[in-house]
Parts: sequence; C-alpha cells; structure tokens
Amino acid sequence: MSVDATELAEIQLEMDAVVLRGPDAFALERAPTPRPARDELLCRVESVFICGTDPHIIHGHYPGFWPREYPLIPGHEWSGIVVQTGEGAAALGWRLGERVAGTSHCGCGYCRMCLSGRYNLCENYGNESTGHRQYGHYSQGAYAQYVVHSVKSVFRAPPSLSLDEAAGMDPASIALHTVKRAGVGPGDTVAILGPGPMGLLVLQCALAVGAGRVVVVGRGSRLAKAAELGAETVDYTGVDPVAEVRRMTGGGPQMVIECAGAPASLVQAVEMCRKGGSISVIGIPQEPAALPIRKLVLEEISLHGVRANRGTCEEVLPLLAAGRINIRTLITHTFPLRAFPRALETFVNRQGGALKVLLKPWED
Ligand SMILES: [Zn+2]
Ligand SMILES: [Zn+2]
Repeated sequence: MSVDATELAEIQLEMDAVVLRGPDAFALERAPTPRPARDELLCRVESVFICGTDPHIIHGHYPGFWPREYPLIPGHEWSGIVVQTGEGAAALGWRLGERVAGTSHCGCGYCRMCLSGRYNLCENYGNESTGHRQYGHYSQGAYAQYVVHSVKSVFRAPPSLSLDEAAGMDPASIALHTVKRAGVGPGDTVAILGPGPMGLLVLQCALAVGAGRVVVVGRGSRLAKAAELGAETVDYTGVDPVAEVRRMTGGGPQMVIECAGAPASLVQAVEMCRKGGSISVIGIPQEPAALPIRKLVLEEISLHGVRANRGTCEEVLPLLAAGRINIRTLITHTFPLRAFPRALETFVNRQGGALKVLLKPWED
C-alpha cells in the first residue's frame, strides 16, 4: 500500500459511520477510517442517498446474503472526493481531489461474466478474496464520512454536476440499464408500474432514449410527480390498470417496466404487455409470483430480469449533467448523517412525500 504522508495527516483516523450490528440494530458510531488497498481509492463522502434496498438490508430481510455477516456499514448511492490513492490507482490515472460518484457492484474482473461485460453477474459474487465487492450490501459502504472503493466502482462527476446530484448516479444508471434491457427505442410506447424513485428515474431514462409515450401506473403524489415529468398517468385506485393501459395504448405498450416489486404488479405487467413486447423487472418481490406463462409463450413476450447495472454509469453521467435526467427534482429531504434514524423513518414512511432522501456525513 502506498500512502501519501502529507495527505494522510489530513485524513481523520476515525470517522462517523452508521454501523449495522444485527437486524434493526444500528447506531451512529465512531469507526476506524478504512485504508485503500491495491487499485482502491479512499474517498471523503459528501452526499449519500437512502436506497429502497437499504431498509430491507437494515431489517435483515436477506439473511446471510445482504449482509453475509455483521457489522456492516450500509449505503451505496454516494458521491465525494478522492483523498487517498491505493497502490496502482495513480498509475491508472486517479488523482487526489477528483470529484467522483460510486456504484455498488465491483466484479472480480476475471470470471466469464466479468470478461463478457456482465460484471453485475460476477461468478465470484460474495467472495471478497477474489476482489469481488458489493459495497453497502455485503462489503462496507458509504453511510460514513469516508469510504473505500475499487477504481472499477467510481466514476468522475462532470464539472457541471453537483455532488448531491452525482450521488444519484447509481440509481440513475440502474434505471438506464433497465430501459436498455427492455429494448426501449425512439417512438416506443412504454408502461411503468410503480412511480417510486426508481420508477421516476426509469421514466426519465425512457424519455431520454426517445420513447414516444410513457404511461405510469400508480397513485397519489408520486403519480402526480410522474405527470410533472412528462408521463401519461393511470391511477390504479380508480380503474383496472391493465384494461386502462391497454385502452390508452391501443392494445398494450411494447415495453412494460415493473418497478413496484409486488407479485400482483408483475402479473399486471404481463397482462398489459402488447404481443411481441418485452418486460423488464427491477422490483425484487419478497414472495413468488404466479405469472401468466401461457400468454408469455403464445405472444412471444420477453421477460428480462434487471440486476443493478453494467456499463451504464459512464452513459448516465452526461444525461444527469445535461438535466435530461433530473435527479434534483426527486430530492425531497436532506439530513445530516447523525440524524440517520429520522432520515430512515422519513424515507420508509414516505413522510412529507419523501422520494430521495439525502444524507450529509460532514454536516451537523
Ligand atoms: Zn441503490
Ligand atoms: Zn467476476
């Protein structure tokens, strides 16, 4: 490990971090500041969003998987400044002071999936000794004043993009991967089920790649936000969403993107899809869903799972910088990291119309 002594003196040896010690057992603690190993960067975290997956990780909904063991520092939608480079990182072009955004997946770089570009499906998933990481899921994350990431998992923020907005690179890149998995192209009609933060990012990505019409199914203030961002809307509390979307689109949308993660919503996605269409599923259902397989087969509908992203971080950053994906409009609340319990409660209970909730590790 090579360490720049002058820089090191300015890095605090201990940091504030949200440390998870068991299901629902978390607290703001003083933790040792991590050190970057080979091909890693130590970054000062300026901004970090609460992701929809985080409450599930905190509640212990994925035992033995996310996390594999305790303690864990969650958090993976972050931006910050490079403050220390591990051995080899400078040779790869990384410099102190660079403004960066992080993403959760770091493939091993050697397996067949990584070598074919699908590092989100790394065959060494969960095995840190191979170099694999998923930060904030089973590897240490960014609900902290500092975080260490592989150079493979950080990207330079364009100068015109604020660090608060850059912290949204990870979810925005997943939204872009989602519309690409579904094959959305110029003029296509797309339906999105679930106008949460991911659905609203998927909506903006679909429009950014040229979708002709986007119909969002949901309710309440989140559905109103979808309308504000350019969608046609269907309030499922008043109508049968399948019949209504099929009526509005003259036989169903070519692409359906499922962002609600509920088995009933998955069934609706298949039922509303046009013949020959495709479906991307991004929500992770807690229970199995009984899908209308007969329709999938006889109407040649393609069903795509979407896991995080691959290769779309570089692509989404200029879209964010140009405002073609507006993350700022989704930031409803900002809290200092030390108010994490209140921030989590606000996010989970959607208090005050909460969408993206931002944490600031260095603010009081
Ligand atoms: Zn996330
Ligand atoms: Zn791999």
